Amino acid sequence: MPRKIAAGNWKMNGSLASTAMVEALAKAFPAPECEVIVCPPFPLIPALVNLNSPFTIGAQDCHFSESGAHTGDVSPQLLKEIGCGAVILGHSERRADHGETSALVARKVTATQNAGLTAIVCVGETEADRDGGRTLKVVEGQLAGSLPDGTDPDALVIAYEPVWAIGTGRTPVNDEIAEVHAAIRDTLEARFGGQGKEIRILYGGSVKPGNASEIFAIANVDGGLVGGASLTAEDFGPIVAAA
Ligand code: 13P
Repeated sequence: MPRKIAAGNWKMNGSLASTAMVEALAKAFPAPECEVIVCPPFPLIPALVNLNSPFTIGAQDCHFSESGAHTGDVSPQLLKEIGCGAVILGHSERRADHGETSALVARKVTATQNAGLTAIVCVGETEADRDGGRTLKVVEGQLAGSLPDGTDPDALVIAYEPVWAIGTGRTPVNDEIAEVHAAIRDTLEARFGGQGKEIRILYGGSVKPGNASEIFAIANVDGGLVGGASLTAEDFGPIVAAA
């Protein structure tokens, strides 16, 4: 069984003072059973890397080029150089707010893996998709489009995040999570053979201390990608313990 992951996506939250939260978490989990990944806004990455915690520090996005005239963007090579280990790609907020397509995400996956970083690729249906019975079709389409030829399964994590469950306090029922994760597993095995069994598939969307254990026990759920509840040690600690 691959090691589970508890990943925190801070989104556009946090400040220099947030290093204290990661320090507290590292004190509580000096040798965590699961892999802990903390993804703060770009400017906070060096401060968190410098804590030398047992956690992987990740970014929330990157460009697909190594360098060049791309104002406001950050290359995966620079992220690697400053100590990042992973990058979240294709989060629904980037797909919605920045018009990111699966084709663009695919280019970023290639660049991220070429830089020596793990790509955490997000997929998930909207509420209209779910109501229309299109959940599996949408998720499988996003997977097919976001994972380019040459994707390295050893540097890949998938996060299933139903858009309607993000930041809402609502989660799918366990059977619904199990159904989508099983479909993702089938897709990964069809694509990568035996290596597809080892790819971690995270659930994201209103994961809290109160529901983490139950969700992480569902078949093919290899941990969580956590937003709001990753911002304090009080909330994220129990989630790390559950993974
Ligand atoms: P919440 O945990 O705040 O619902 O956010 C989930 C998410 O989008 C993580 O990437």
